[in-house]
Amino acid sequence: MKERLDEICDRIKASTIKSGRMAGDVTLIAVSKTFPSSAVTGVSSLGQVDFGENKVQELVLKSGELENGTSDHPIRWHMIGHLQRNKAKDIVGRADMFHALDSVRLASALQARLKAEELTLDCLIQVNISAEDSKFGILPDELKLFAEQIAPLDAINIRGLMTLASPTNSPESVRPEFAQMRDLSEMLTECLGYPTPVLSMGMSSDFEVAIEEGATHVRIGSAIFGARTYLNT
Ligand SMILES: *Cc1c(COP(=O)(O)O)cnc(C)c1O
Repeated sequence: MKERLDEICDRIKASTIKSGRMAGDVTLIAVSKTFPSSAVTGVSSLGQVDFGENKVQELVLKSGELENGTSDHPIRWHMIGHLQRNKAKDIVGRADMFHALDSVRLASALQARLKAEELTLDCLIQVNISAEDSKFGILPDELKLFAEQIAPLDAINIRGLMTLASPTNSPESVRPEFAQMRDLSEMLTECLGYPTPVLSMGMSSDFEVAIEEGATHVRIGSAIFGARTYLNT
């Protein structure tokens, strides 16, 4: 695990510098989905802080067991997967950042729960950049309207955008999707009138290209934890 993590960190650093930024400007989110809390503890003990889960049940389970880690090895939890409106309450107070905001109804449910608990939540709008039917997310054409609709919800801090690029064996082929996300990110900042600097994109197979095109957060699972043994994308 240490070797894999070190190698990923080195590659992230190299791509970050290649993109004209400083080492440390890109945050690695270790995607621990399908792996037990003990695996998270193992990677956390190597100094990794940010962890991602795509299913709310797993987020609840592992964040319940590990909470925010220890003072030596803190843990920040990211909810990176689609969330049903009736589960909105389950991420409030648990996730430090929600990457998959994709409907006004979900945003309203989150807002209500956050208000009740007097909390706020950093959120990213998920964009369906490849406009695949099978994917969640706001279509690029609808992003501006969506952002305007959720902007008044004051417990939701819109921090930027998230996407999953088209599945591919050649990362170069999805470079245009990542580049388009960067343009959308600039449009979002203009539209909202405050900084929305977070761009969560890039996974095990394509994170280097994503960083070259401006990713600030990469979500990497299998390249750190190994292959997932049961189907649970
Ligand atoms: C599983 C998952 C990842 C990580 O995928 P790997 O190919 O294992 O790196 C990233 N983002 C989301 C939303 C995921 O569900």
